[in-house]
Amino acid sequence: MNSEFSLRQKMLEIGKLLEQKGLVVATDGNFSTRLPDGNILITPSGLPKGRLTIDSLVKIDLEGRKVKGTYKPSSEYRMHIEVYRKRQDVNAVVHTHSPYATAFAVSHIPLEPVVSEAVLANGHVPVSPYATPSTEEVPRSISAYIEKHNAILLANHGCLAMGKNLDEAFYRAERIEFLARVMFISRLLGGEKKIPQEEIDKLLKNWGIEV
Ligand SMILES: [Zn+2]
Repeated sequence: MNSEFSLRQKMLEIGKLLEQKGLVVATDGNFSTRLPDGNILITPSGLPKGRLTIDSLVKIDLEGRKVKGTYKPSSEYRMHIEVYRKRQDVNAVVHTHSPYATAFAVSHIPLEPVVSEAVLANGHVPVSPYATPSTEEVPRSISAYIEKHNAILLANHGCLAMGKNLDEAFYRAERIEFLARVMFISRLLGGEKKIPQEEIDKLLKNWGIEV
């Protein structure tokens, strides 16, 4: 497993990428990773993600208590903790307000794997019920979806992507935004055509995944 220092450096890199790719604006969005000591390293509240420093990151435990750091943890820390508690295979969580994915979240329209890469990357992306940001309502609203999905649209809010590491969670958030753009444009062209289930099963089989 990576050292805490290398994970802190990786967090800074992910913050810059999220900003460069337009997946977050201003001080919005937040992301985190599980540390070798079992605690969580999360972005601080109120800082733009492209300008994070090693020391601005906040270490919290799985109860949400601050272990190390001068800043307050992201106000959405409860949402992150809920994921880590429910998914031992998840070591990173990325939450964005990327525009196309957020537009689907605002419209309460789930994303479907209409491009073949999306079948493996995320599959069906559900919309969880609306919850007041930064409150206990958020973990409750996503709870039922966490075990079966690696990405969730949060109604009238944004996108939540999980991964076995920071790169995987970031790529997933980036791919969700791409998929949302493709679905949006497809609808201007008359609507996307879904990949038939037997073809999805074939794709998964080719990738060595049991169906
Ligand atoms: Zn948010």
